[in-house]
Amino acid sequence: MKCNLCGSRNYRKDPKQDRYGHLIELATCDCGLSWLHNYWTPETNREFYTSGRYRDLIGLYRGRVFDWVEHYKDQYLYATKLLNWLDPWEIHGATPCHIGADPEKVDPIADTFAMRWGVECDSVDHLEGHRLEGYSHIVLCRTVDHLLDITEAFQQIKQGLTSDGVFYFDILDQGPYSHNFDLKIDHQYYLNDLTAKMYIDRAGFTLVDSTDTIDDNHMGYLCRLS
Ligand SMILES: [Zn+2]
Repeated sequence: MKCNLCGSRNYRKDPKQDRYGHLIELATCDCGLSWLHNYWTPETNREFYTSGRYRDLIGLYRGRVFDWVEHYKDQYLYATKLLNWLDPWEIHGATPCHIGADPEKVDPIADTFAMRWGVECDSVDHLEGHRLEGYSHIVLCRTVDHLLDITEAFQQIKQGLTSDGVFYFDILDQGPYSHNFDLKIDHQYYLNDLTAKMYIDRAGFTLVDSTDTIDDNHMGYLCRLS
């Protein structure tokens, strides 16, 4: 296994426990990237999200039910703030049905809320294997930390953007070289501002703007093709 960001095989591995009690091995590279070592596969990824296990885990962790309705409220607030922030880049409105474009959602689970908004939801096991084409805007919300292969996903996104298109993604900013991560089994990657910008650069994007105002713990990046 190589570091997904810099390609090094020379990284440290430490046994850890995630916040739900799962035993994991955390790999940490000198470039600043940390990830769960040999943990998740496309099959376990699909099983995890389609079974709804992640909502049960979050519910247990927070001590209150985290069902579709709670999930929706949480996502709606995020989407509203994000779309307002993105407004200068010609994404208008507060929910996907008001974007006024031809949106499509790519998700490991068929999303009933996306369908209710009239947004086409393309159900895929993992974004990395999904071919994207001809999009003026690609918005990856609270997703990068969950990907199985960020480098591969960013190449797919690069291919899927029109030449003047914009790409937004966010990360849970864990701080440079911090070892006090909030480890979660469904978060394969632990990025910080430095490693996020390295990914942008290595993938062939140029950073246009960034924000930490969308919610309490995410850092967002808006990019164009270099
Ligand atoms: Zn590395």
